[in-house]
Amino acid sequence: MQISFLGAARTVTGSCFLVTTNKYKFLVDCGMFQGQNKEVMLNVDDFTFAPNTIDFMFLTHAHIDHSGRIPKLFNDGFTGKIYTTKATADLCGIMLPDSGHIQEMEIEWINRKRVRAGKHEIPPLYTAEIALNCLKLFEPMPYDEVIQINDEIKVRFRDAGHMLGSAVIELWVNENGKETKVVFTGDLGNSGTPILRDPEWVGSADILVMESTYGDRNHKDREDRFENFVDIVNETLDKGGRVVIPSFAVGRTQEIVYGLNQNQNKFKEKYERILRTPVYVDSPLAISATEIYKENPQCYDEEARRYILENKNPVDFPTLKLTRTVEESKAINETDEPAIIISASGMCEAGRIRHHLKHHLWEENSTILFVGHQAQGTLGRRLVDGEKQVRIFGEDITVKARIEFIEGFSGHADQKTLLNWLGNFEKKPQTIFVVHGDPDVQDVFASVISDTYGIRTIVPNRGDIFDIGEDRVAQVGEESNERKYRFMCLEILEKLNLLKDEVDEMCLMIKEDLRAGMSSEEFEDMKARLRKVEKSIIATLE
Ligand SMILES: [Zn+2]
Repeated sequence: MQISFLGAARTVTGSCFLVTTNKYKFLVDCGMFQGQNKEVMLNVDDFTFAPNTIDFMFLTHAHIDHSGRIPKLFNDGFTGKIYTTKATADLCGIMLPDSGHIQEMEIEWINRKRVRAGKHEIPPLYTAEIALNCLKLFEPMPYDEVIQINDEIKVRFRDAGHMLGSAVIELWVNENGKETKVVFTGDLGNSGTPILRDPEWVGSADILVMESTYGDRNHKDREDRFENFVDIVNETLDKGGRVVIPSFAVGRTQEIVYGLNQNQNKFKEKYERILRTPVYVDSPLAISATEIYKENPQCYDEEARRYILENKNPVDFPTLKLTRTVEESKAINETDEPAIIISASGMCEAGRIRHHLKHHLWEENSTILFVGHQAQGTLGRRLVDGEKQVRIFGEDITVKARIEFIEGFSGHADQKTLLNWLGNFEKKPQTIFVVHGDPDVQDVFASVISDTYGIRTIVPNRGDIFDIGEDRVAQVGEESNERKYRFMCLEILEKLNLLKDEVDEMCLMIKEDLRAGMSSEEFEDMKARLRKVEKSIIATLE
């Protein structure tokens, strides 16, 4: 058997692994690359395999960085079954068409510019329609049952506690009478994540492919975190302001809504005000996802199940208002009554959240409360980093609102939890492939595993192929030079683009200073900055 690492290798996105046995070829995940340009460009590349030669695939969970290229795979000729949990299939039913819609919108914008420049139009990665069509390939599976896929392969989905429907995939591959057990963690959650069950233990594995997103650090305690959240909300409401929460539509939004519901008794006095305040969930995708949460109580933990037994809904309460239409969304900002507004996207790069930011960033009494990781270069990150002026819909907005960031609302296990999960194997894997992490984090986590458990770890590069033999694991292939070179070019392009932004910003400052006047210190600062840019250009080219 061979495993090819085609994504989430020395990066966190684009999760995709190709497993080749002596008879079959299948994928585990087929996710989209997200983040910086050089990675996003990888999405449009042809697959390194012929999609019509893949027999079937397994999907760990619905997040786009694990599922987002399935419509492309289907469009390029894949017709096999996609085995996954029921909740993941349900969530893909809304998330993939939504992703198709985003692809169409983005390409429309790019094409408008291309046409003006006299260039030909380019097609989207896939359309919402293609995404809808590929849903027929999904084959929902129950948790915890060993299922025979064919004469060689058995599978079992275990709860990964990361998002609704998320699974650790246990695979038994029987080749020539010899069975090898390979386990893919997908993304592992924390214990105690609201609504969800804790990640299940896996008893044994020969080979483990393990995520490492937070492999180098530990999270803040969950209880402190929600109390902190409630305090910030109350302080804002007391001043007559509004709380705007940029949140990921699937997962985080439901966690916040459930948290608001669940903590009412615990923080009784602190909740008086909140209970009288409308809480808006202003994102059609988040609303649809909330419906899917309601329809899949089989994924709930004990506590969330109790709500069901009492005929209550864990993701609903009287002051919760779901605004689906554009009119309803606009109406939120037509009054200035205190409110809590939860909207997507979580990093403020697109979606309705940008309208709410435009209306509230300049208000001293309001708060923008971040509850998720903000990637470098996003509007969310710039706000968290303290930028005082931002541009939204072509308008300069001064940031006067209070900006808060609560760390640790994360769907990913931290180092302690990852090690603990690994510690519960009765028969430890002989080799662990560390994937799904930033390169330096992966290196830290790989050595922590070796130091703690004495297990051999490998941090594969994108394109690496490993042969899984009876008692040895050996690398037998790597990414082609042509692909490596292409990625290097994209990397240079990315760096030059960052420099371009820097130069643009400096031009703007100089123009402003021409009007307002520049002190000699400011002039020296500017010179130093220019020298830095000059050095960076040389470094990039080298
Ligand atoms: Zn995920």
